[in-house]
Amino acid sequence: MAKEDKPIVKCSVSNCTYWGEKNLCQADMIMIDIDTHASRDYNAEFAGESFDTEHQDIAESSSATCCHTFKPKS
Ligand code: SF4
Repeated sequence: MAKEDKPIVKCSVSNCTYWGEKNLCQADMIMIDIDTHASRDYNAEFAGESFDTEHQDIAESSSATCCHTFKPKS
């Protein structure tokens, strides 16, 4: 997907490394999962390792989802 085809991701989590002005996420890719999988570590996938980012889940509501790309600002 070309960079200009990326969706606009609005996010209020201002202590994330990828958070930008006007609540615009600056990440090239974000991984969203269900809260049940919140403890999974997908960081290695972004570095070319083989964690399963292709699996599918069912969320009961938006409040049951979370962003795995979140990386706290240092
Ligand atoms: S990576 Fe996730 S938590 Fe961080 S700014 Fe983007 S959407 Fe928000």
